[in-house]
Amino acid sequence: MHITVDTLADFFFPCQCSHCDAWDQTWLCPACTAKVAFLQPSATHDIRSFIGLRALTQYSGIVKDILHRAKYEDQPWRLTRFASAVAGHLSDTEWLDSIDVVIPMPGDPWRTWKRGYNPARVIANEVSRVSHRPLAHPRAFTRTGSKPQQSLTMEERSSRYESNVFTVNKHLLGSSQQKKCLLIDDIATTGATLKAASDALVASGLSVEALVLSVGL
Ligand SMILES: [Zn+2]
Repeated sequence: MHITVDTLADFFFPCQCSHCDAWDQTWLCPACTAKVAFLQPSATHDIRSFIGLRALTQYSGIVKDILHRAKYEDQPWRLTRFASAVAGHLSDTEWLDSIDVVIPMPGDPWRTWKRGYNPARVIANEVSRVSHRPLAHPRAFTRTGSKPQQSLTMEERSSRYESNVFTVNKHLLGSSQQKKCLLIDDIATTGATLKAASDALVASGLSVEALVLSVGL
């Protein structure tokens, strides 16, 4: 094998920071790591519509910037890198032991098609990899369309609870026994959508824990 300076650099610095693009050994360089408000996923938070939510980071500073650029400036790799870096913080695995399956929040069909991917699934994929828990089948949990979150007021976001329709396809979740699932989303602000999704899963006989990449506290 012919070793060049580039291949040596790739060996020592194989990752690019999800925020500043600096070459590093992780997907979030030390300078950017210092700017992220990490939360302990073993702790739970109560937000307006959802009680007992687990979160990896607070929705502020560079986390806001990374998610915005990933979702609205067509830079999905930032979310993949950031999710990979942050999922590594799921080191306190005691509460994860009881989880049978990792389920991403289903994306709005139209937005998922336009964006080309579902952000929640990118994160769920990383959580599944780190926790060694299986990722649900893509059609195990689906959702009908709704208005874009960004165009809604806080009041409308809460009332959106009624407009989300979720469908659980239990046969795609494996065994018919009761399962405990870990519902994953990228951001929680009011928690209304998470609550609606969680209620649909519970109504289908599953028990639910919810984990988000970032929460607005
Ligand atoms: Zn950085």
